[in-house]
Amino acid sequence: MAPEPLPAPVTPTRYSPQKGEGQGISTRLASFADGLGTDERPARSGDALPSVAEIWSWLAEVPDPEIPVISLVDLGIIRDVAWDGDVLEVTVTPTYSGCPATTVINFDIDRHLRERGIGKLRLKRQLSPAWTTAWISAEGRDKLSAYGIAPPNEATVACAGALQPRDVACPRCGSAKTERISQFGSTPCKAHFRCTECLEPFDYFKSI
Ligand SMILES: [Zn+2]
Repeated sequence: MAPEPLPAPVTPTRYSPQKGEGQGISTRLASFADGLGTDERPARSGDALPSVAEIWSWLAEVPDPEIPVISLVDLGIIRDVAWDGDVLEVTVTPTYSGCPATTVINFDIDRHLRERGIGKLRLKRQLSPAWTTAWISAEGRDKLSAYGIAPPNEATVACAGALQPRDVACPRCGSAKTERISQFGSTPCKAHFRCTECLEPFDYFKSI
């Protein structure tokens, strides 16, 4: 019996405009930057509106632009999905305020839902309550760990303005003998750690 082929490795991808999409992007991104208006386009004619559950499943396909192994739903930033007449309202709470990914995230949600035929879409930004890493789903934590990023540890405490993580386990060997190398990892949302057992460096998703 032939062995099963190995699954293709997961390659992180950065957001990049698709072919033919380049022209309008900066304008559209700019409009996302300060709150989103309703873009009135004709709704799908003759079709029943997709269910909220179906829309959640579509949103679960949209990767986080910074950590593509987890989806926006795993990240916990999608707070609500509801129909207001024939306008779909998606409520999003940004992660770290001023995180440059926020604009890209809004754009990705918009594009993905329009590709699924959502004609009228309103993205609502909800700043309160503020997002915390506790909103990352259990599945999201597992995916982070499998990807080599230590998921946020809710026992982390803020101390003198700097986050002092406690008991950040190595995502590779599971050892708790780890040390922080730098407050900032590959993005400001992560810190760089090293395992003193297996000696592997890794990113830690900061808890907030
Ligand atoms: Zn290790």
